[in-house]
Amino acid sequence: MRTDARCLRQQMCRCFALFLAIVTALACNKSKNASASSEAQTAQSSAQSPLSLNVDPTGPATHVDPARAWQYLKEIVAIGPRWDGSKGQERIGQYLHSKLKGDQVEEDIFVADTPAGKIPMRNIIAKFPGTKDGTIILGTHIDTNYPLRHTSYVGANDGASSTALLLAIADQLRGKTLDGYSVWLAFLDGEEAIQDWTDTDSIYGSRHLAAKWQADGTMSKIKAFILADMIGDKDLNIRRDDNSTSWLEDLVLRAATRLGYQSHFFATSSPVGDDHTPFAAAGVPVADLIDFDYGYGNAFWHTPEDTIDKLSPTSLQISGDVILETIRLLNANADRLPASNAKKAP
Ligand SMILES: [Zn+2]
Repeated sequence: MRTDARCLRQQMCRCFALFLAIVTALACNKSKNASASSEAQTAQSSAQSPLSLNVDPTGPATHVDPARAWQYLKEIVAIGPRWDGSKGQERIGQYLHSKLKGDQVEEDIFVADTPAGKIPMRNIIAKFPGTKDGTIILGTHIDTNYPLRHTSYVGANDGASSTALLLAIADQLRGKTLDGYSVWLAFLDGEEAIQDWTDTDSIYGSRHLAAKWQADGTMSKIKAFILADMIGDKDLNIRRDDNSTSWLEDLVLRAATRLGYQSHFFATSSPVGDDHTPFAAAGVPVADLIDFDYGYGNAFWHTPEDTIDKLSPTSLQISGDVILETIRLLNANADRLPASNAKKAP
């Protein structure tokens, strides 16, 4: 993908937030090859779906409020750049706490060892309890690109959109015991590389939280980890991530189809490296919902062009409603979900 990114946009070569492990040969011909591989992937994943998760949820679907999601987005962007070590990093933490006041909120504070030295980081987790034993995690990253810190970059789509969406989802979860699994919102710090995207210079927050939850046994209770990233693009094209769990992606597509939004999902596919990978490695079913086609040839990604005028409330609504419907499908099919492979606490 490093080569791939250079083909997409020469000037981005030093600042990767995402690692798409596409081989060099595919790099400059991605759309053509991606659609071919998409068909293959779809066939493969339905063949691999271990169980038929075909129970429909009862009652009406739950929806996010797109106006509120959009308001959160504007407020987060107004904070300005939120790279790790900046004033904006502190402010986004305060902002999330102010919006989640009264909710059950925990912090996972740590100091990351980065190519720029030690940087304090904090994940913020909001917990909404349910009646069923088990947890669904919804994730977003809250930081913005570090190498672009001296530009006007605000990460409206890459960082702010999914964070605003999770706040809008929180609005639908609070004030009741959820009828089903608990839902925890993970606002993750340090997704972006400080220098160049590598296994050790990226996804600092999710790596730290996954290690913590493995050590304390939380991981074995997680039924699904659904990550949202760059989901605000007006022209919403969420790709199928080959590093995600096939049956969970199938469920996401089924949720989208139930709501009539399937044309925005999985027209292309490729492997994506993002905050879900430490959870996948731990054996948790994961799905990364990411639109990695942001502007022509992904031209707005990791540039100061990543601004709010490229985004729409409708895209936030589509993403949010599909996530909420996926949660209903997970609950409706709770008895037949494939078991998580996450190890229990020692
Ligand atoms: Zn990024």
